Amino acid sequence: MSNLSFDTRLLHNKHKFDSQTGAVSVPIYQTSTFHQINPDTFGKYDYSRSGNPTREALEEVIADLEDGVKGFAFSSGMAAISTTFLLLSQGDHVLISEDVYGGTFRVVTEVLARYGVENTFVDMSNLQAVKNAIRPNTKVLYVETPSNPLLKVTDLAAVCQIAKKHGALTFVDNTFMTPLYQRPLSLGADVVLHSATKFIAGHSDVTAGLAVVKDASLAKQLGFLQNAFGAVLAPQDAWLVLRGLKTLQVRLERSAQNASAMAAYLDQHPKIKHVHYPGLTHHPGYDVHQRQASHPGAVLSFELHEEISLNSFLSCITLPVFAVSLGAVESILSYPAKMSHAAMSVEEREKRGISSNLLRLSVGLEHIDDLVCDFENAFERTKSHIQLS
Ligand SMILES: *Cc1c(COP(=O)(O)O)cnc(C)c1O
Repeated sequence: MSNLSFDTRLLHNKHKFDSQTGAVSVPIYQTSTFHQINPDTFGKYDYSRSGNPTREALEEVIADLEDGVKGFAFSSGMAAISTTFLLLSQGDHVLISEDVYGGTFRVVTEVLARYGVENTFVDMSNLQAVKNAIRPNTKVLYVETPSNPLLKVTDLAAVCQIAKKHGALTFVDNTFMTPLYQRPLSLGADVVLHSATKFIAGHSDVTAGLAVVKDASLAKQLGFLQNAFGAVLAPQDAWLVLRGLKTLQVRLERSAQNASAMAAYLDQHPKIKHVHYPGLTHHPGYDVHQRQASHPGAVLSFELHEEISLNSFLSCITLPVFAVSLGAVESILSYPAKMSHAAMSVEEREKRGISSNLLRLSVGLEHIDDLVCDFENAFERTKSHIQLS
């Protein structure tokens, strides 16, 4: 079916209807165990941690969309990321994007480090810095592009090539782009990871994680770890992700179109110091992003001028939800310093350029005129003095 275009494959895939009943929505197999005819006859399924038909449908659909051989669904993005990191062993070293998702930073520095997995954080947009940081025991290069929250862009093909040369694997967190806009496996990555909580499910109603691998031997290893560690996605939640996925293209295209317009609007606003969005020609990763992805996406971040009171601005904004998370039907505004990156010390945060005046906006499906109007009103009413909490 893969000769069909992406939007068609979201609907017309192996799971367009149930082979048993013809149901056009994948049935929710709300069961923990499966009847076995006798001690020597094993069915396809035996226990839902090891395999559940609803979860499996999602795993097959995401594997197809990411051009991989096998998909795995987990109870959250962090469960997908943490389980995949279990491919590493004591004494291994991981090289990782420096402005990576806060939860990933936490699991690498506070959990994996206790088990003897070493780490180095580098600015992955600097390929020389990546090469310099490689050690003989480097087993994984972990990339987030565009990164969070500064939308820094990493040249995926180049980093995968560096990894291969050193016999290391490349893991890519593709949450911000989704397979609609970027296919890391086709650019040489070995594992692609998602917080499906975000764009893939898309409605702020479920936490879920996905991993897709490129080759059969990795599939076997990750399948073993998924079952061994046990952080699997429940059948109801797998169904919610499957339902969200059907409208990925129409949702994300609208959101991304709105985000481009918001980025252009904020970029010329006198109260804004800087806008980070890979669709702006002044963004340092503009060219690389254009080459490896088909759209800059629906997330941007911006810094208010120092004299603008952040708290006053936030109290004047009415449309976006002020919350952690992103990639939903509604716009979400968040404050990385105290939300997604609260797990990072102030020094670590500032070293990475995540200032105390930075806000991240995940643009939803609202009418663009309403969004711009809301921001315009808020800027007009915002007090101009330093008043950070
Ligand atoms: C949210 C997020 C995660 C973590 O996913 P959860 O579903 O919250 O566990 C990982 N990476 C990125 C880029 C994210 O935005």
